[in-house]
Amino acid sequence: MARMEALRVRFPLLVPFRAAHGTTVERDVILVAAHGDGAVGWGECPTLTTAGYVGETTDDAWRWFVSGGPAPLMARGAVLDARRDLRLRLAGTPAVPATAPPALPLRAVVGRPPDLDALLAAVEREVVAGVTHVKLKIEPGWDVGPVAAVRGAWPTLDVAVDANGAYGVDDLAPFLALGDAGVTYIEQPAPPGSWPALAARWPAAAPPVALDESIRGSADLDRAGVLGGVRYLNLKPARVGGVEQAQVVAAAAVERGLEVFVGGMLESGVGRATALGLAAVVAADRPTDLGPSERYVVDDITPAIRWAGLGRVEVPRGPGIGVAPRPDRLAATVVDRVEVDRVEVER
Ligand SMILES: [Mg+2]
Repeated sequence: MARMEALRVRFPLLVPFRAAHGTTVERDVILVAAHGDGAVGWGECPTLTTAGYVGETTDDAWRWFVSGGPAPLMARGAVLDARRDLRLRLAGTPAVPATAPPALPLRAVVGRPPDLDALLAAVEREVVAGVTHVKLKIEPGWDVGPVAAVRGAWPTLDVAVDANGAYGVDDLAPFLALGDAGVTYIEQPAPPGSWPALAARWPAAAPPVALDESIRGSADLDRAGVLGGVRYLNLKPARVGGVEQAQVVAAAAVERGLEVFVGGMLESGVGRATALGLAAVVAADRPTDLGPSERYVVDDITPAIRWAGLGRVEVPRGPGIGVAPRPDRLAATVVDRVEVDRVEVER
């Protein structure tokens, strides 16, 4: 087996990113390097610092890399992704086949800003960059008004919203109003535990639903596929345990009649390239949530993921995921490292 190493890295975001589950100022993630035959494969565990998104935190993942035990899903996914990247690099094979598109349209995700002026400025920046699809983070008290303001300013802009599970099961009024405002979909209206109760009452006049936090694997789809207006799956490879598992989940979602798009978790270039590669294979005809590096950081750990024409993001090419950390930038961001050769990941 390849020698493996986990590197805990920290880097500041360009601007704090606020969603209903919390505000992220600095990213604290784990990169996995799989060494073998003179090559290095890379995977990323882009867990958040707090448990508000899907429960697994960077501290949880790091504890596993250091001490072993039952593998948390996202940590395990980073190991599998690093091994996959190493295999591809050793074979000289890109993760993205030559037939896949070189760039994907972006649905720019706009975090909750401090006020309406800041929201309009953030959306305008995306429109100027040629973006035609946005997704606004919403929560109770910051939903219908801000969305209507954006729709009013740019009537042809495709606007989706993401609640990150911030709503209870009784208040249907905001969802109906968001439908009236012409929202394309509402992502994760209620938390995974209470979504089925809300789904059972989901009004036909409300926008279709995209699920994110609710889906950690194919088994979760059996419930989601038939309930409450669910039409989309926001697939994030890290959330379901790596790219190969994500491909299985994508196929299962399509089988159940869902449309799949690929989202992100404020990854470094390693995770971003990994997810863009997945998007190019399983969801090339839909806008991805994964933006270029310059939207998130001043100086990415890998060479920057770039715009590729108006409103489009490049899909990195080259053996494996197509990018690797730059040694100087990696050295500047690593805060801890541990050899993980002894950690077995059950397949
Ligand atoms: Mg989401």
